[in-house]
Amino acid sequence: MRREQAVSEVEVGELPDCDMCDQIGVTRDAEYDGATVMGPWANMCGEHFGRYGVGLGTGRGQRLVLRGIPRETAERVREVIARYLGVPAGEIFMADHNHEGISPGSWSFAYEADTERLAEVPGETRREGTPYQLPETVWLEQINSFAVAAHLR
Ligand SMILES: [Zn+2]
Repeated sequence: MRREQAVSEVEVGELPDCDMCDQIGVTRDAEYDGATVMGPWANMCGEHFGRYGVGLGTGRGQRLVLRGIPRETAERVREVIARYLGVPAGEIFMADHNHEGISPGSWSFAYEADTERLAEVPGETRREGTPYQLPETVWLEQINSFAVAAHLR
């Protein structure tokens, strides 16, 4: 059973768009990557996989499984951000929904600061290295010049 899952599922950090929906100008997450009845492989949403997919397994197709980040990990990151900003962690908004265009399975954090405090926080610096012990996948950015957010993905 475990072996069968290994070939019919693949974990991804972000779901690609359905290629077939794209062709008709619709943006929709793909849930499958597989061969089609027409031949070529494609990323497909559930509906298109149902219509054009040839099944799951080696040589046929794989279900795309979003690799989510556990809340526990996100809360540890919030603690680090709070220490960095010098504020209680509870004052930092944390959400696991799709927010600010980040993918499902990610977390976002936001702290609304006054402009004087914000001036002390370097924006867009987290992509380079981890000078403040934040994981390298976390960065801070200024939003609308009055908030700070970090996206964990
Ligand atoms: Zn589709």
